[in-house]
Amino acid sequence: MNKIYSMKEYFAKKYAFQVQKITVSLDFTCPNIDGRVGSGGCIYCLDGSVPHKKEKRVPLKEQIKKGIESGDKRFGAGTRYMVYFQTNSNTYAAVATLKEMYASVFEFDRVIGIAIGTRPDCVGEEVLDILKTYATAGKEVWLELGLQSANEATLIKINRGHTVATFVDAVKRAKHKGLKVAAHVIVGFPWETIKDFLASATLLVELGVEGIKIHPLYILEGTPLGEMYKKEAFELLTLNAYVGALAQMVKILPENTIIMRVSAEGYDSCLLAPEYCSTKYKSKIKAMLERELQIR
Ligand code: SF4
Repeated sequence: MNKIYSMKEYFAKKYAFQVQKITVSLDFTCPNIDGRVGSGGCIYCLDGSVPHKKEKRVPLKEQIKKGIESGDKRFGAGTRYMVYFQTNSNTYAAVATLKEMYASVFEFDRVIGIAIGTRPDCVGEEVLDILKTYATAGKEVWLELGLQSANEATLIKINRGHTVATFVDAVKRAKHKGLKVAAHVIVGFPWETIKDFLASATLLVELGVEGIKIHPLYILEGTPLGEMYKKEAFELLTLNAYVGALAQMVKILPENTIIMRVSAEGYDSCLLAPEYCSTKYKSKIKAMLERELQIR
């Protein structure tokens, strides 16, 4: 791939109307936090850290309503929406609860799709079947699964609580049900090299995922990784090295893989390092990547 194929371009190609994403945060937890799989969470995760305080969540329908209102103001009343369940593991609840929750999204006739972020060890057949009914009905349905790295030793080091095989199995099962899959990958674990980053990208190519979200490793105050870093700062990728690695990864992806994200964002208030993980670098990283892809 020589050019970033964005979600915006994908929507523009597929639909005659504008599609925008509404991101919702609900009270889901995570089996790697509540003790079912592990406790403390992944070492970089703020939600797994005690005593990180949970904010009080606005009810789902209210979040969607607000999202539509502000989207309409910005993009016009003809805009349609895809609701993205972002925080924690959004398939980790009783099947009946999930069914009701996902169904309520489509009570809004301007909502044309749903994207669910979750862990690969949290996608049972029943959940996939619920999502399949929407995909079969022609809705835009995306399952976003965290891999972070295809290096098994890394998954242990970062306390992911699942294996690469679990991820592979979840992707295959989701695709078998006709769902689109996006994978989340982190670039820059200090013990990893370009070989590892490329191995992660290669696995995703082999699995045929439709989308990929990459972000640099960020170190947040209040996380186990943050504590490790404060005790003894370790070397992180420079911005140039990150973009260089990113470009090599993107190069091996097929032209139709959607690059949904290449930067970190939203953690400015508790970011310890690196500085380029702050939100203000978002468009700079994208522009640097585009330039790098052209040069290569
Ligand atoms: S799986 Fe996600 S929510 Fe759970 S601990 Fe890891 S990063 Fe946090």
